[in-house]
Amino acid sequence: LHRNAGESEFHQAACEVLESLSRVIAVNPHYSEEALIERICEPERQIIFRVPWIDDNNQVQINRGFRVQFNSALGPYKGGIRFHPSVNVGIIKFLGFEQTFKNALTGMPIGGGKGGSDFDPKGRSDREIMRFCQSFMIELHRHIGEYVDVPAGDIGVGAREIGYMFGMYKRLNNRFEAGVLTGKGMSYGGSRARKEATGYGTAFFVRSMMERQGTGIDGRRCVVSGSGNVAIYAMEKIQSFGGKIIACSDSAGYIVDEAGIDLDLVKRIKEAERGRISHYVEVKGGDSHYVAGGSVWDVPCDIALPCATQNELGGDDAKTLIKNGVVAVAEGANMPCTPEAIHHFRAAGVMFAPGKAANAGGVATSALEMQQNASRDSWTFAKTESRLEEIMAGIHDACHETAEEYGAPGDYVLGANIAGFVRVADGMLAMGVI
Ligand code: NDP
Repeated sequence: LHRNAGESEFHQAACEVLESLSRVIAVNPHYSEEALIERICEPERQIIFRVPWIDDNNQVQINRGFRVQFNSALGPYKGGIRFHPSVNVGIIKFLGFEQTFKNALTGMPIGGGKGGSDFDPKGRSDREIMRFCQSFMIELHRHIGEYVDVPAGDIGVGAREIGYMFGMYKRLNNRFEAGVLTGKGMSYGGSRARKEATGYGTAFFVRSMMERQGTGIDGRRCVVSGSGNVAIYAMEKIQSFGGKIIACSDSAGYIVDEAGIDLDLVKRIKEAERGRISHYVEVKGGDSHYVAGGSVWDVPCDIALPCATQNELGGDDAKTLIKNGVVAVAEGANMPCTPEAIHHFRAAGVMFAPGKAANAGGVATSALEMQQNASRDSWTFAKTESRLEEIMAGIHDACHETAEEYGAPGDYVLGANIAGFVRVADGMLAMGVI
């Protein structure tokens, strides 16, 4: 603990994985040799840098940039970049740690990394966003590359920011190296279905998990937190499976629409206008209503999809959801449920899908984007989505079968942690002590 003092989110993520490993180490003691566990918890490299930029008032602003290159046993480091004022090294480390096992679970040749900045994009003009992204890349470019480290989007980073960063990378290197970033626009090497992939993947995972229990999504009430990239496309796929989305949120509050959330309107507000979710009620009217602050988990539902940020669903929220009859919870976001919340779900027999499995569709499709870039190809939406669907089914089955193998049927947390760990550990052991 003392070497990572103050990094509470990293401790939380590492403890969760380590708790699952006793069963695998009991059967395969070689996983505890050669300081493998200590090495797997230590990032290969951490980069922290200054990001100076000039705002619209001609004032110099300084932010801090991060890139944690966690583990490259299975391939180049791969993971998103987050722009949010809460970003610090502990948050980027927990995300990079999670990413390592998530990427392993996809079965694709990608290692784990994560990056970001404490820059707050809210209220910034397009020009300010561009200048910030350019300054961020002026430092980051020397640490990344198609075969080194391949960043993507995350909170506060979408196609616009990736475009500005790619432009600066290309200029600095005088190379059109499409595979250096994923989440690119379609006109310069992006992949169809990447934008949709994380949310769709979460919905595919929920469907598999529910089918395994002999039930389904059709006609179910569903509540989603957030209204960003992951939330929007999770809602879209759940709706296409016949689920009814009753509520979603942003960091200021949540909306409830018993008629079913109008997703076109949410997309217009959040994707085109970059506005607040409260605006939904002003436009839609009817029975829809907005609750400022509060917890979206107070809204009764069968399926809960936390798709906003870490530790957004606590023990009391879990108790409320259980009291209201929730049957399945899947983490679209990274570590949105606290350990206490997960404990309550497990104790109550609620189906629970951890983020490193349920939201792996985004990075899997990023790997498909790299594949298209490497072969100078561009696949159809249908082909890309069908590969995503196959990959999510594979992740689901790997988690499910691993949990059974280790004596904990239905425990997707244990299954995901062990299945991801074994792949990374085998790669590391094969390469010796490095
Ligand atoms: P976006 O920036 O598109 O959306 C984030 C959403 O969550 C917004 O509605 C935002 O509200 C809300 N939110 C963010 N921070 C907070 C906070 N501190 N408290 C309450 N609400 C908050 O991000 P993404 O949809 O891309 O990412 C969401 C989650 O999914 C993250 O945990 C991310 O790591 C994870 N993820 C994303 C992947 C991707 O492909 N994009 C892949 C795998 C995981 P507001 O606008 O008010 O800030």
